[in-house]
Amino acid sequence: MRRVTIFGATGSIGCSTVDLLLAAGGPEAFRTVALTGGRNVARLAAQARALRAELAVTAHDDCLPALREALAGSGIEAAAGPAALVEAADRPADWIMSAIVGAAGLAPGLRALRHGTTLALANKESLVTAGPLLLAEAARHGARILPVDSEHSAIFQALAGEDIAAVERVIITASGGAFRDWPLERLAAATLAEASTHPNWSMGQRITIDSASMFNKSMELIETREYFGIEPDRIEAVIHPESLVHALVGFRDGALMAHLGPPDMRHSIGYALNWPARADLPVARLDLAAIGSLTFRAPDPARYPALGLAREVMRIRGLAGAAFNAAKEAALDAFIAGRIPFTEMAVVVEAALARLSADPGLGNAPESLDMVQAMDHLARQVAQDVIAVRGGKD
Ligand code: NAD
Ligand code: MG
Repeated sequence: MRRVTIFGATGSIGCSTVDLLLAAGGPEAFRTVALTGGRNVARLAAQARALRAELAVTAHDDCLPALREALAGSGIEAAAGPAALVEAADRPADWIMSAIVGAAGLAPGLRALRHGTTLALANKESLVTAGPLLLAEAARHGARILPVDSEHSAIFQALAGEDIAAVERVIITASGGAFRDWPLERLAAATLAEASTHPNWSMGQRITIDSASMFNKSMELIETREYFGIEPDRIEAVIHPESLVHALVGFRDGALMAHLGPPDMRHSIGYALNWPARADLPVARLDLAAIGSLTFRAPDPARYPALGLAREVMRIRGLAGAAFNAAKEAALDAFIAGRIPFTEMAVVVEAALARLSADPGLGNAPESLDMVQAMDHLARQVAQDVIAVRGGKD
């Protein structure tokens, strides 16, 4: 029986993954080794019971008593804290979903690769912060990384059976987020509630806000560069408000292969779960005649300054991705806390990157988790300084 583990089981991607496992037979079809979550211990315990998991881990030590209580009588082990999370990755599993949000997802995923597992990677931050390290670790241990981000799953599918050397360009699509049609001068006053709604996708709050600012698409440009090894000048982002075409791959003969599907992550999660086979999945089928038309337009750099920052990160490479992501996470925290306006997030990240560029270490390749975490730590501090200097409220 296939052994599975889910990091970030209680989040948006995690819940969709649990749903797919249950729909495919649950404990009759899979042996669930470990599930991890955060403060929602009731959900984590319910998932662990439904899948008859061996272990449930909460990221927070103070949540352990509640988790133990929720699992009482089930025989399911409970554990807590960042070290327990990484230890869960040492438990042998054949398929591991990496769906923690943020830089915290890197350590458990990296550890899992040591055991030659298949890592279904939703945590794009792993590739943004440490792409070369992650791929080297997978190669060293014969592990496989399967992309789960919808655009990257789409590219992966369009490349099946193709020679990567014949790829001329890759285009990833973006919905444009919550503010795509707002007048530019209104953006600075966007509220947290407004930034936390997405026109097409239902996702966790952080990635939803990152979609409005297009920091999400910036991360995905870097993710494309790192995962597929495609040069930055061959990777484009285009606004496609319908979110039905997820990505397109252009070949040297002029052919453009597009991947279409409804905006439902259960497709790319299910694809990674069943790869290399395809299985029936409970996703809607597109009715093209009813849809009628698909539209595309170029993103406006003034509305989405994050895209330009991603280009700079891809130019520097090295630890610039770790710095970019950490500064972005700090700026996002500050926006969520009401300390800075929506438009200030890109200003903070740009200023933090500019300060860190003075350090020649920024161009060093990420060779270890320690190096990546040290740059992450430094960039968060620099971003905090920038926020304080620019008058962010405490
Ligand atoms: P979410 O916020 O809904 O869930 C995040 C999960 O991570 C939860 O289980 C939470 O408890 C856990 N978590 C949060 N902080 C943690 C920490 N410090 N340590 C350990 N666990 C922690 O997020 P999501 O929307 O499911 O996104 C998860 C990842 O997948 C992100 O990297 C996101 O960019 C990526 N992704 C999500 C979608 C989507 O549709 N939601 C699509 C593409 C990619
Ligand atoms: Mg995506």
